[in-house]
Amino acid sequence: MTKNDERIDIVIAGGGFAGLSLAIALRQGLGPSTAIMVADPALGKNHDGDERASAIVAAARRLFETLGVWESVAGEAQPILDMVVTDSRVEDAVRPVFLTFAGDVEPGEPFAHMIENRFLLDALEKKAREVGIALRAAAVSNFTHAPESGRPDARPWGGGQLSEQGPQSIRVSLADGSSVSARLLVAADGARSSIRDQAGIAVHGWEYGQSAIVTTVTHERDHEGRAVEHFLPSGPFAILPLKGRRSSIVWTETAKEAERIVALPDDAFHVELEQRFKLHLGDISAVGPRRAHPLGFFVARSFIAERIALVGDAAHLIHPIAGQGLNMGLRDVAALAEVIVDAARLGLDVGGAEVLERYQRWRRFDTMTMGVMTDGLNRLFSNRSAVLRLVRDIGLGMVDRVPNLKQLFIREAAGLVGDVPKLLRGKSL
Ligand SMILES: Cc1cc2nc3c(=O)[nH]c(=O)nc-3n(C[C@H](O)[C@H](O)[C@H](O)COP(=O)(O)OP(=O)(O)OC[C@H]3O[C@@H](n4cnc5c(N)ncnc54)[C@H](O)[C@@H]3O)c2cc1C
Repeated sequence: MTKNDERIDIVIAGGGFAGLSLAIALRQGLGPSTAIMVADPALGKNHDGDERASAIVAAARRLFETLGVWESVAGEAQPILDMVVTDSRVEDAVRPVFLTFAGDVEPGEPFAHMIENRFLLDALEKKAREVGIALRAAAVSNFTHAPESGRPDARPWGGGQLSEQGPQSIRVSLADGSSVSARLLVAADGARSSIRDQAGIAVHGWEYGQSAIVTTVTHERDHEGRAVEHFLPSGPFAILPLKGRRSSIVWTETAKEAERIVALPDDAFHVELEQRFKLHLGDISAVGPRRAHPLGFFVARSFIAERIALVGDAAHLIHPIAGQGLNMGLRDVAALAEVIVDAARLGLDVGGAEVLERYQRWRRFDTMTMGVMTDGLNRLFSNRSAVLRLVRDIGLGMVDRVPNLKQLFIREAAGLVGDVPKLLRGKSL
């Protein structure tokens, strides 16, 4: 540590969903004597430019409720009351339904809610401010490990065990010229994480050559809380219910076609949209911005390095086909917060090897499973093969007819299966 370094216990790079949720969870579990900082150049800016909405599954909603964030956004959240899956071509007049889901995970608790990202991000930032997290509107530009370890520089780490006599702290430099010394640096800086790169952690994955067009649509008739996923040959076209007579569209096309469609004049865009949406909710019109998000898949080779933990999209990126990316990130958040709080209560070092390895054991396998599943789903559905169409339709039809299997799918999709961290079960740390 140099003379000018501020001492912070935990620095979180990235004030998106993952970074802010983690900061609030740690503050709740560790109390005000632990100094926590979130650094992100986007802090303090409004999120109105984000046209996306997210499906927040039951487990993630429980986490937000436990953090005291859900109550301020509940009025904007639309419960998903049922879900319909079809498999057809754009030009098909009738879209046979192969799978339906309905019902709550617990009485009165829907398996998911749809909410616009801007509401949730605003509420998280407000809560973080209220509970006394230091919010710094600057990027993390680099880090070095403290000289006590005898290693002046960051050491790339590509696997194996972290050393028990590793560096005692990590020095984090911010783009505003300041620096802080911390026990732990959390990389919550998204899919293009520069911290992950600087730590020498590679990723396994690929680009899909697909993009998701996202826009919001208003319609004449009420959606009655129904989410619809049409599996079209170019990829899934999802109609996800928002509050009021509005739905969020997540529409997968090849990257080139998505670029073309997004750039169309409004009336031509409307024609393309209506061909896929159809008229089951009456007349529709697209409102607000539309944007194409390139899609890819990766899992980081390691979720940890010396005094560094990766969470959220910095650790993994998946196709939005099952609406699970953020929900997976919140599982990282809940697991990391739990291992850190447990360690602090035992008087252990919160950035030490033992804590980080427990986090990695908890999350990496689970992430691989979900990643492989969403990748497989996308490959199975985004194609024109008649054989694969038959295979998937038989599969969907079978799931639809076996109630116990369907209930298991719903609980799995709601994030309530497996070794679920406390916050996702609605329990405080
Ligand atoms: C079309 C689409 C639809 C989706 N729908 C769903 C859904 O329905 N349900 C779901 O669960 N998930 C969904 N996802 C996935 C979800 O949006 C992401 O998983 C989630 O936003 C990731 O959150 P994050 O906090 O990890 O990263 P991000 O949201 O990317 O936040 C990263 C933050 O880090 C900041 N940052 C970057 N570099 C630095 C730095 N050097 N220093 C400091 N800060 C930095 C950025 O400014 C940003 O604020 C969808 C994704 C897409 C593309």
